[in-house]
Amino acid sequence: MATHKCFCDTGLPFENCCGLYLENNQKVPTALALMRSRYSAYATHNAEYLLETTYISERKYYSKTEILKWGAANKWQKLEILSFTENTVEFKAYFLNSDNKPQTHYEFSTFKFENNAWFYVDGKFE
Ligand SMILES: [Zn+2]
Repeated sequence: MATHKCFCDTGLPFENCCGLYLENNQKVPTALALMRSRYSAYATHNAEYLLETTYISERKYYSKTEILKWGAANKWQKLEILSFTENTVEFKAYFLNSDNKPQTHYEFSTFKFENNAWFYVDGKFE
């Protein structure tokens, strides 16, 4: 199988990067790796993964249909990590919307480590 570069910003082949978590069910080691894999999940329309990695008490705010609609309507171009700590990631995601207009999604995300796994809790947008 031909290798292709991961959707996120690492420049690594997909199967050595987010593919480990999206396709091989490996545990994500850090909040930053989880954020990257969630970006790649948007790019590959993997709503299942996005819900599973959302913190349980926050899941009610998301629906698979809405995630899919948003993920699939946009063409994901580039991820840029602005800063991160052990449990936060600040990033910009660049995409083309359904009218092919370039857009930027800015987010300061918070993550939580529980039951041996990282979860996305919520984000601040500007
Ligand atoms: Zn990746």
